[in-house]
Amino acid sequence: MAAGRRIIKNNIEEYLLSIKCNYKCNEPLSKHTTLCIGGTADFFVEVETEKQLISLLKFINENKIKFFVIGGGSNILFSDEGFRGIVIKLSSNSNSEFGKVETCEGKEKQNTEYVCCGSAVNLAYAARKTAEQGLSGLEYISSIPGTVGGAVFGNAGVKESSVSDVIEKIEVVDYFGNKEILNKKDIRFEYRKSNLEDCIITRVFFILKNADKNDILKTISQQLERRKKSQPIGTKNAGCIFKNPKDDSAGRLIDSLNLKHYNVGDIEISDIHANFFINKNNGCAKDMLSLIEFVKNEIYKKYNIKLETEIRIIK
Ligand SMILES: Cc1cc2nc3c(=O)[nH]c(=O)nc-3n(C[C@H](O)[C@H](O)[C@H](O)COP(=O)(O)OP(=O)(O)OC[C@H]3O[C@@H](n4cnc5c(N)ncnc54)[C@H](O)[C@@H]3O)c2cc1C
Repeated sequence: MAAGRRIIKNNIEEYLLSIKCNYKCNEPLSKHTTLCIGGTADFFVEVETEKQLISLLKFINENKIKFFVIGGGSNILFSDEGFRGIVIKLSSNSNSEFGKVETCEGKEKQNTEYVCCGSAVNLAYAARKTAEQGLSGLEYISSIPGTVGGAVFGNAGVKESSVSDVIEKIEVVDYFGNKEILNKKDIRFEYRKSNLEDCIITRVFFILKNADKNDILKTISQQLERRKKSQPIGTKNAGCIFKNPKDDSAGRLIDSLNLKHYNVGDIEISDIHANFFINKNNGCAKDMLSLIEFVKNEIYKKYNIKLETEIRIIK
């Protein structure tokens, strides 16, 4: 390691200690992604308060340090070389400002309640907690892995509904460390996409409807059952690799080429759902990227359709 780099690393450590953040050096990112793939991050920092986050982002900006924010790691492919910079995770532990679900005041609307969720909260937990209070809106997306922040960033959803359907407003901190409140109308949500590229989402205000608790819990169970039947549960994967093309399904297209079980190294196309690529054991990002390219080319040759990746590929 060059001397100059070592000095910078020491400065970063000194700074992280000064703002009392939990951090690890040379942390394997494979430990933080559902694919269990990724080399080490120079720094992996867990942030518990907005004050820490603002301060950290200002420091990062002043020192031009590369950084990336991670949620549950369920939609990400990090490279085998890892990440030369700081990976930030909003902490979901009991002391963290980003790990709470609270009902809150909002403008009056009949039969509705406002719920404020910290971004680090697991989406399934938020859905179950609000269901227990007889609040409907998150049940269809309850079985999507990952955090509330990650779900909002990617407008996660299923056929019946997307997270943006139930958002009232969000709180973010921009990359310069400025706090902002964005109403839904200020955000562009599309299919598995938002324009929230230059900020960290810290809190999300959902507008949920009062409904029968048992009906909501029943829908949550049905969603889980549906997944058990249609997805390779218990494997290392990142959900759908490709977005569905308009009026079609990427899984159906891949399956039509008889590619289930096709593999590059330890990365294999699932036999249960062809849009899921599984890390069988010691799969790496290089093999995952080769398989993605291969499938893209095959689909283009056969159908003249350009598949777009749904997972975020971080170099
Ligand atoms: C088995 C399985 C099934 C899945 N099924 C579905 C499904 O049905 N529908 C669906 O939409 N997705 C699905 N996914 C994909 C994934 O679960 C979602 O995209 C999820 O919302 C990602 O959340 P996360 O917290 O894991 O985000 P991560 O994977 O950690 O991050 C994803 C992106 O969000 C950004 N991000 C995360 N947190 C924040 C934040 N606080 N502020 C700003 N940006 C942030 C990251 O920088 C990254 O760009 C599935 C994944 C798996 C493994």
